[in-house]
Amino acid sequence: MKKAILVMLICLLVCTGCSLGKETSERESASRELFAMDTIMTLTVYGEHAQEVLDLAEAEIERLDQMLSTGNPEGEIGTLNRTGKVNLSDDAAYLFEESLKLNDMSENAFNPMIYPVMEAWGFTTDEYRVPSKEEIGQILPLVDLSLAEYQEETGVLQFRKEGVKIDFGGIAKGYTSGRLMELFQENGIEDAVVSLGGNVQVIGKNPKQELWKVAIRDPQDPSGFLGIVRVTDQAVITSGGYERYFEEDGKRYHHIIDPNDGFPADQGLISVTVISRDGTLADGLSTALYVMGLNRAEELWKQHPDLFDAVFVTDSNELYITEGLKECFTSDTYTVKIIPE
Ligand code: AMP
Ligand code: MG
Repeated sequence: MKKAILVMLICLLVCTGCSLGKETSERESASRELFAMDTIMTLTVYGEHAQEVLDLAEAEIERLDQMLSTGNPEGEIGTLNRTGKVNLSDDAAYLFEESLKLNDMSENAFNPMIYPVMEAWGFTTDEYRVPSKEEIGQILPLVDLSLAEYQEETGVLQFRKEGVKIDFGGIAKGYTSGRLMELFQENGIEDAVVSLGGNVQVIGKNPKQELWKVAIRDPQDPSGFLGIVRVTDQAVITSGGYERYFEEDGKRYHHIIDPNDGFPADQGLISVTVISRDGTLADGLSTALYVMGLNRAEELWKQHPDLFDAVFVTDSNELYITEGLKECFTSDTYTVKIIPE
């Protein structure tokens, strides 16, 4: 079910990329599709040595996947969750520090210590269940960043309490797409687009020398788009309850959890897309704003209009964009309401 949706999404996004790419350019280019981080990824680069650069990109994705996957007991995060202590690599240290910032900025809507709650709901094993309020109430005190002690001088991260576990699933793909853009640029690639399970990041222009057009999935009909955003040097990252969920007794339970009550976030949003130059920030904020709901998300954007823009869909099927997207977002299916600065 989940994979089918992902394949569909990738097709949508890649097709968008392809249709833009129908070769007006004589430059060397290469595309690759791979499965990593539990999702299908497509990478397309334009420039010299395109294939070799994609080899480097694939190796980088594998390195980060091994390191960050909660399901890999020997990886860095697996070891940390198993033993309560690990020496953080530069990548994981960066993710931890960015998580602290996102947690602070979102007033705890983003919290990477959510992992024990994800386990209770069965999202980590696909053995889904609805935990009781009592069970969640016992686990919730573990979802607390002050229980993770990081010593910058030694690089050691240590948990202060039994049962504490961390999960960078809310930012890992955005971090990875950001790393890929750096790697491309270090290797002379000026134009590229990647889609990591629908999370897109681009540099430069498309082969027609125009802005890249990125399609955003419609949460009401995940086989279609809600609209197109035209961007350069940006990440376009979406969080939606439809991406991963199960149903029990006619009720749907999705994978974006409100750290304040340990239940799937239910603040009136069904999709949040964040557009930012910073992939990690875009990924973390898409998760956080989904948890926060439209009013609080709007307030946060007004404090940082230069840092990001966003597209919101509410459960009454209204679509809002922040003002910064006014000239570059179009939708054929929704009436677009603009959130002014
Ligand atoms: P995303 O698809 O980027 O919104 O991330 C969802 C993933 O992030 C989930 O599968 C969990 O691994 C993790 N997650 C869920 N809720 C939160 C939260 N409130 N804060 C941080 N990470 C979360
Ligand atoms: Mg996210």
